[in-house]
Amino acid sequence: MAVPDSFRPRALRLLRLLSRPGFHLFLTGLLMVLGFVLAHRLSERSGRDQLSALSTERLELYASNLAAELGRHASLPSLLAIAPTLQALMQAPDDARARRDASQMLARVNVRAGTHQIFVAAPGGQVLSASEALAPPARLSEALAQGRSHFFAADPNTGSTDFYLLHPLRQTGAAAGVIVVRFNLAPLEATWIDLGLRSQGERILVADDQDVVIMSSVQAWKYAVLDHADPSRRQALQASARYPQPIGPDLDLPASLEVHQGQQVKLPLPGSSGAKPMLAQQRQIVPLGLRLVALSDLTEVRQRAQLAAWGGAAFGASIGLLALYLSSRRRALRQLTQAQADLRQTHAQLEQLVDSRTAELRQTNDALKTQIAQRLQTEGELLQASKLAVLGQMSAGLSHEVNQPLTALRALARNSIRLLETGRQDAVATNLQLMDDMVERMSQITRQLKSFARKADERVEGSAALLDCVRNALLLLEHRSRALDVMTVIDVPAGLRVRAEANRLEQVLVNLFGNAIDAMQNEPERRLRVLVIRQEGGRRALVRVQDSGAGVGEADLQRLFEPFFTTKPAGEGLGLGLVISAKIVHEFGGTLRAERLEHGMSFEFDLSVDTWEHQDV
Ligand code: ADP
Repeated sequence: MAVPDSFRPRALRLLRLLSRPGFHLFLTGLLMVLGFVLAHRLSERSGRDQLSALSTERLELYASNLAAELGRHASLPSLLAIAPTLQALMQAPDDARARRDASQMLARVNVRAGTHQIFVAAPGGQVLSASEALAPPARLSEALAQGRSHFFAADPNTGSTDFYLLHPLRQTGAAAGVIVVRFNLAPLEATWIDLGLRSQGERILVADDQDVVIMSSVQAWKYAVLDHADPSRRQALQASARYPQPIGPDLDLPASLEVHQGQQVKLPLPGSSGAKPMLAQQRQIVPLGLRLVALSDLTEVRQRAQLAAWGGAAFGASIGLLALYLSSRRRALRQLTQAQADLRQTHAQLEQLVDSRTAELRQTNDALKTQIAQRLQTEGELLQASKLAVLGQMSAGLSHEVNQPLTALRALARNSIRLLETGRQDAVATNLQLMDDMVERMSQITRQLKSFARKADERVEGSAALLDCVRNALLLLEHRSRALDVMTVIDVPAGLRVRAEANRLEQVLVNLFGNAIDAMQNEPERRLRVLVIRQEGGRRALVRVQDSGAGVGEADLQRLFEPFFTTKPAGEGLGLGLVISAKIVHEFGGTLRAERLEHGMSFEFDLSVDTWEHQDV
């Protein structure tokens, strides 16, 4: 469905407003008020309806009760009218005997019927004969004049209402007197009071045609005037013989109550302060000209309505709070979803970054690998070059070492020939032994040279006897040490074997010893010491080479392991010896370090130990 453009921002604004917590609080308040009002109204209405229905039923009950009570003796006067005793009395009203007979008969009937009094009065109102010696009501003559068949009148002595039934007595067609049956309504009233008490605050009253309460379950209301009587009416009522004097106060109850239709009124009740809310319902008893009014206490209905109202408010509040909860939950979920989306985005960015960094690193790594490869190649070449340099340096010593035994060999050979000619076999054998020793020594030297010139294998295999390596290295330099009269001290355990390739270890030692001899050249005292220190419980051995040479300055000490750093005159030093030595030691798993002594230098490196003891195979 197409949504008009102007509608969208308005709808968005509305949505935003609806999702605000302030709005929800306002909504909650509104729902509370609505719930309060609605629940109050509904509860009150239903309470009133219920009460009204109940009251209507009771009203019917009271009405039938009253009608039954009043109708109980309705036929009694007409029956008495045909009694011969009364007929006789009518024939001779002044006869004392007839009066006495009638009184006795009436007394008997009165007792049997349970009425209050039965009497016969003359048309003028004076009593001719009576069951009880009670004064006739003041209203009798008025009723007789009006030709009434019944009337109500207050008993001036008890204050209760009496009901009078009248029936004319005729003598030859003319009215000769009237039979009056009187009965008291106080017992009925008492039943009503009792019923009212039991039906939780229901009150009942009966008003006559003058709107004056003649019967009531509330005694204080008796003879009160319904509605408001104006002064003249009140005066007339006061003057009336019907009611005891003075008549009661006004009762604020509308005289025009609709039949069966409940109306809310406020009436003062004895024993309670202020007027009480009550539901008034009325029932007309037409033939008697009476109105029956039932009044039900609304306090409980109101209390229940209050409770229901608070319940409604709580319900409204819960709906509002539920809406608030749902809305905040939706908001939280939205925020969560947003946060997740942000996180995902950040994650993606991070991954991208990591990828690009990884790619850079890979490039750098590749470049480094290439550099390392180039470096290694250069180092290999340099190593080879340095070996050649060492070879060059050694060639002088070598020629000295080889020439000397060659000259001696030649001399010994010639000497042996002569000895053979002279038959001195034993001397020849001695010469041959000497010659063999010399050849062995020369082959040793050439073996060293061969191993020196060989390009070393990268792998470190097997073990080397450290003492042998030290000796071999010293042997290679022997011509120089001897020339300079160097005192050599070797403090190396005979059985110690270290994890190193013998040739390369010798190369390191030759380098260190060579440097030491160089440094001691111009020193008065020349001492070279090789010692071994146990480390890590014998798992490693520290090889230390100390000399009493000129040493180096503090600044030079830092530079010793720099390639091409040399203090030696051009042609003598390449500045590669220590670099290569450090590298070889590193390949053996150790580290080469230099330290200045008080007189001279100390170089040391650690190696992994194979064994400390001799192992005879
Ligand atoms: P080269 O011996 O070719 O100069 P090296 O790397 O072996 O190269 O030695 C570098 C420098 O270290 C030497 O030139 C020397 O100055 C110094 N040096 C090495 N060993 C000693 C030592 N035992 N005493 C004094 N100086 C030394």
